[in-house]
Amino acid sequence: MPRYEYRCRTCGDTFELSRPMAESSAPADCPAGHDDTVKLLSTVAVGGTASGSAPARPTGGGGGGGGCCGGGCCG
Ligand SMILES: [Zn+2]
Repeated sequence: MPRYEYRCRTCGDTFELSRPMAESSAPADCPAGHDDTVKLLSTVAVGGTASGSAPARPTGGGGGGGGCCGGGCCG
């Protein structure tokens, strides 16, 4: 059941209610009993996007075969 956030204009408190979407715009009483409330933008609880990015590591390199002796430069 989605959660909706409301704010009471009487006491300025904000509170959340879990209610069906069909009743998302229905009047909601604040915990203190006031009925002058407004519905805030629904805060959708989306999962974090902290996808681990693998550290870029240079691959290979080094060990280049310098065939010196093959080219006749060794003597
Ligand atoms: Zn209130």
